[in-house]
Amino acid sequence: MNIILLGPPGAGKGTQAHRLVAERGMVQLSTGDMLRAARTSGTEMGKQVAAVMDRGDLVTDEIVIGLIAEQLDSGAGGKGFIFDGFPRTLAQADALGDLLESKGQTLHAVVEMKVNDEALVSRITGRYTCSECDAVYHDVTKKPVKDGECDACGSHDFTRRADDNEESLRTRLMNYYRDTSPLIGYYYAKGQLKRIDGLGEIDEVAARVAGALDE
Ligand code: AMP
Repeated sequence: MNIILLGPPGAGKGTQAHRLVAERGMVQLSTGDMLRAARTSGTEMGKQVAAVMDRGDLVTDEIVIGLIAEQLDSGAGGKGFIFDGFPRTLAQADALGDLLESKGQTLHAVVEMKVNDEALVSRITGRYTCSECDAVYHDVTKKPVKDGECDACGSHDFTRRADDNEESLRTRLMNYYRDTSPLIGYYYAKGQLKRIDGLGEIDEVAARVAGALDE
């Protein structure tokens, strides 16, 4: 089962993708994570995309399609891929369709996670992650049980994304509405779109995602 999690920044795509990995043995393909990894390891491509990412703009279709193609070629599909943060443009959506077809694979569903814009701002500006295991926390709504210690792995090291600030978020939201939201109509027309309410507790949203996938 290959699926896309579609939604604006802060909709909870990464959090729900982690759940699907843990519960269903699926493989998460997050182009944002891949690009951040390229930056951390200091590759030429990582240096090229750093400023664009910090501004909240989209990197080129060519780069992200290349990253996804590499992963599909690696054959690490497990129980299926979760595309998280990809595709973000119509050109990427077409390329994904072609890539999957060339591997004899299909897209099972596109789950659109709907969250209102005010909720996105507070989710994003309070967000931080464990530097060791990438568990996601929030200043107000999801603090670690023990102050300063990751619930999942016990690390004391946390990071905030450089682009999780109000200015970059405004750019990311604008890019979402301009470039990515047309994908809602694109996948609706293909009969693959499932829409769920992305507001609420993580467990509640996970149940809605599961309901949409198992329909
Ligand atoms: P994310 O972690 O999905 O929020 O992505 C972080 C940043 O990486 C985005 O703001 C973009 O700059 C870049 N990025 C991630 N995925 C894509 C994509 N599919 N197309 C273009 N840029 C992307």
